[in-house]
Amino acid sequence: AKAGGRRCFRFFDRSMNEHAVRRLELEAQLRQAIDSNQLELHYQPKVLVETGGLAGLEALLRWNHPEQGRIPPMEFIPLAEETGLIIPLSYWVIEEACRKLAKWRKGGADVKVAINLSARQFHDEKLPQRIEAILQRNKVPGSALEIELTEGAVMDDPGRAIVILQRLRALGLRVSVDDFGTGYSSLAYLKRFPINAVKIDRSFVMDLPGDAEDAAIVRAILDLARALNLDVVAEGVETAEQLDFLAQAGCGQVQGYYFSPPRPAAELDAWISKASW
Ligand code: C2E
Ligand code: CA
Ligand code: CA
Ligand code: CA
Repeated sequence: AKAGGRRCFRFFDRSMNEHAVRRLELEAQLRQAIDSNQLELHYQPKVLVETGGLAGLEALLRWNHPEQGRIPPMEFIPLAEETGLIIPLSYWVIEEACRKLAKWRKGGADVKVAINLSARQFHDEKLPQRIEAILQRNKVPGSALEIELTEGAVMDDPGRAIVILQRLRALGLRVSVDDFGTGYSSLAYLKRFPINAVKIDRSFVMDLPGDAEDAAIVRAILDLARALNLDVVAEGVETAEQLDFLAQAGCGQVQGYYFSPPRPAAELDAWISKASW
């Protein structure tokens, strides 16, 4: 009946292309995804350059669709943003990350997890109090949780962003600016905003060390971060040559397929209980 309905719909509205139909279907299915256990978090390590130790894990959302298989976040997160579904979705992410944190930390390891927050979620008025409740419920200290925000999320409304960031910092959370360098904003916010770290976008890392312009940009970001006392994480490190360049330029943390892709939590269990960081 479902397939027939879809054919019928397309017959009557030929202007609606395949793409739009898929979006409508996805929206309806995304509403059910949370309750039917189709969402999953994968975790990718952030590695300390000097010691090779684990600085933390980044939680990345996966949707295991019953018929279509795994749908990439870039496909459903913008949709979730537009429809408002991002709010329940993000709270599921925070709750799930804290459940895993509690489990991992029980073994004595000082694990930290970073979650990605979209602009809309960041501006939800209840965000700080809801994060506080989730931390308490799972008995996880705020210092074990980090949030990653894009420049766009904070620059929409800088005055309000500062207030939210201060409330999150008061809970002990760390804050990173994601995809750093790709935004349109002035650098002045780095001074005004209570942030801890910037993540150099993968697009600047990809062509290292050969690309002289990217090398100059990365060095400039590292200088700026040092002067402002911010940690730096380079994203998308895939080769030993990229790592060497970043290490020599003084980048503190790295992340990328060279070390590990994002993995299901179960694959990290054994490793975390053994690791001595
Ligand atoms: P992001 O936060 O910039 O995450 C990094 C993306 O790069 C991830 O893609 C990761 O799997 C991928 N990646 C990591 N290392 C490498 C590498 O060495 N090479 C390459 N080519 N890629 C690498 P993913 O998991 O598909 O996520 C895409 C984006 O979706 C994320 O970009 C983030 O903006 C968004 N996202 C993912 N999970 C969530 C979530 O829970 N909430 C929100 N709001 N957004 C999320
Ligand atoms: Ca991120
Ligand atoms: Ca990023
Ligand atoms: Ca990105």
